[in-house]
Order: sequence, then structure tokens, then C-alpha cells
Amino acid sequence: MRILVTGGAGFLGSHLCDRLIGQGHEVVVLDNLFTGRKANIQHLLGNPNFEFVRHDIIDPFKFEVDQIYNLACPASPPHYQYNPIKTIKTSVMGSINCLGLAKRVRARVFQASTSEVYGDPAVHPQPESYWGNVNPIGKRSCYDEGKRCAETLFFDYHTENKVDIRVVRIFNTYGPRMHEADGRVVSNFIVQALRGQDITIYGDGSQTRSFCYVDDLIEGFLRFMAQTEIVGPMNLGNPGEFTMLQLAELTLKLVGGKSKIVHKPLPADDPKQRRPDITLAKKVLGGWEPKVPLEEGLQRTIAYFRGRV
Ligand code: NAD
Ligand code: UDP
Repeated sequence: MRILVTGGAGFLGSHLCDRLIGQGHEVVVLDNLFTGRKANIQHLLGNPNFEFVRHDIIDPFKFEVDQIYNLACPASPPHYQYNPIKTIKTSVMGSINCLGLAKRVRARVFQASTSEVYGDPAVHPQPESYWGNVNPIGKRSCYDEGKRCAETLFFDYHTENKVDIRVVRIFNTYGPRMHEADGRVVSNFIVQALRGQDITIYGDGSQTRSFCYVDDLIEGFLRFMAQTEIVGPMNLGNPGEFTMLQLAELTLKLVGGKSKIVHKPLPADDPKQRRPDITLAKKVLGGWEPKVPLEEGLQRTIAYFRGRV
């Protein structure tokens, strides 16, 4: 197949490209390199089945493709809050552009939605049926509401225009090729520990997240895109739940060194807890579940950063 990956020069997108190229597909990456890097796809640039197009997803585009994966959107809070209006345009106008193209060329189209659609969840763990608890006018709203609106667009194009959609809600995923200045917690803690800097816990560190290693997530993407039973939304993530204090201690243990833990103010609307209910994914994706435990995934990610920071 010929497959368009928007945001393909980013962290998740570049791993997805590796798998798609490995399966023998032709891949076109559309990316404006806001948070992505050519270095993430450098090894693919000489491959005749691979093409990189520098383009902003909010401007229209045309490609003759069989499938579209829409991943273009900054994912880390400091990056998506840098220009909030641009972030919401990226989710909303980017989705409209992907869906319009999918409708015209009859491509199956995948949306990288997020656990942020659940906001600061009052239901725990979060099943797909939960509607969420999102502040519409806070610091995180440009991302959360942008992704929620994108889901609405995907389902309306599906219902009204029979567009063949797949919508995945991704829970915190980490691994090699995260940007060292990304600002998300796993890369921050690893980079700080490797540099011997203080480990910055926001708040008291009792808030929880569930961390999925990138390879497990991408396997879920491919299985979900290949099946025809359901269109989503489907949670994908690792249900292992950790406090940020536990993550900081584990990172310090694995990296070694002399970093101290320091506390910084908790950002506004920071969700207190997050853990995916993956019952649906296990059932529909042929028994899919994450295989890489946190400690092993952290070790692989630390090995990646060790040579770079
Ligand atoms: P990332 O920031 O590494 O990748 C995003 C990519 O999109 C980058 O290459 C960036 O340059 C590109 N991009 C941003 N705005 C663009 C625009 N206007 N036009 C074209 N390209 C643009 O982040 P990631 O972790 O790889 O996330 C990929 C997708 O998955 C995002 O849509 C994100 O919201 C979603 N997601 C990720 C996680 C996670 O834990 N990694 C969790 C939930 C959802
Ligand atoms: N966090 C932290 N220190 C950091 C970066 C993040 O304690 O240096 C916390 C953050 O406040 C949140 C959790 O780690 O509670 C996960 O943050 P991240 O930005 O990785 O993802 P998200 O909040 O979007 O799940």
C-alpha cells in the first residue's frame, strides 16, 4: 500500500514509518518539523519507498494513498502550549484536511487521539465509554478540546460520508527518539539524571500515569488499522500505573549518579490519575497487550539518550 503518515518525523511517527517500510509499504511523511526532526527519519531518506514532504497540515494537500495515519500535532504540554491557537488549528483543520482527502481517495484514515480526552478523570481506570472531565478554557484545552473536536469530526465524516476511520486514544508513551527537550516526564527525568541535574517533580509526585513502551503501542496501531470489526475509539496504552515519585526513583536507580529530587509547582489542570482500561483492545486486536515492562523500556530509552546528552 501507499501510506501517508502526518507527523511522521516525530517520536511515534518515525517508529510507525519503520514498521510500515519493514512491511513493504510505500510511505509518504508530511511534517512541518515543529517538534519532529529529520534525524528521526534520516535512515529512511534514501529508501525508494520513502518520501518526506515538509508541509503544514493546516494547509490543504493531495496525495494518492490507500491509508492515512494522522499523527501531526505537538504532544508535550510545553510544546502544545507554546502557541495554543496553532495547536487547536492543527488538530481541527488538520483533521478536516485528512478526512477530506480520505473521502476523495477512499483511504482508511487513522486518528492519533489521546487519553487527554478524559481530562482529569473522575472514573478510574478509564474505559472508552467515559466522556471525560475536561476544562474547556484552561492551559491544556487547546490540546484536549482540539483532540476531542477531531474525534467528533472523524465520527461525523464516518456517519455522514462513510469515511473508513480508526480512532485510537493513546496513553503516555515513551521510548527512543523522544526529543531531549521534549518536556514530557520520562525524557525530562532521564535527561536530568544523565546530566547530573536535579530531577524536577511537579507537585508532590503523587499523581499517576501509565507508561507504554513505543514498540508495544505501534504494534497496537498496526493491528487496529488492519482489522475491520470496529472503528473505535479504542484505548491503547500500558495499564501499569506509577506515581511520578516512583518514576523518578526508578529512573535514578537505573541511571545512577548524584541527582537530587526537587519539587516544582504543579501545572494547572494536571490530571491526578490516569490508567487505560484496555479490555476492548485485548478483545479486538487478537490478544494484544503491552509486553515491555517499565523498567526494561526505561533501560532501552536511557541507552538511547546516553550517547546524546
Ligand atoms: P511529537 O511531537 O514527537 O510528534 C508530532 C509530530 O507532528 C512532529 O514531527 C511535528 O513536527 C509534527 N507536527 C506538529 N504540528 C504540525 C503541523 N501543523 N503540520 C505538520 N506537522 C506537524 O509527538 P508524538 O509523541 O510522536 O505524538 C504523535 C501523535 O500522537 C500526536 O498527535 C499526539 O497528540 C499523539 N499522542 C501521543 C502520545 C504520547 O504519549 N506520545 C499520547 C497521546 C497522543
Ligand atoms: N512532570 C513532572 N516533572 C517533569 C515533567 C512532568 O513531575 O519534569 C509530571 C506532570 O506534571 C504530569 C506527569 O509528570 O503530572 C506527566 O507529564 P507529561 O507532560 O509527561 O504528560 P501528561 O501530563 O500530558 O500526561
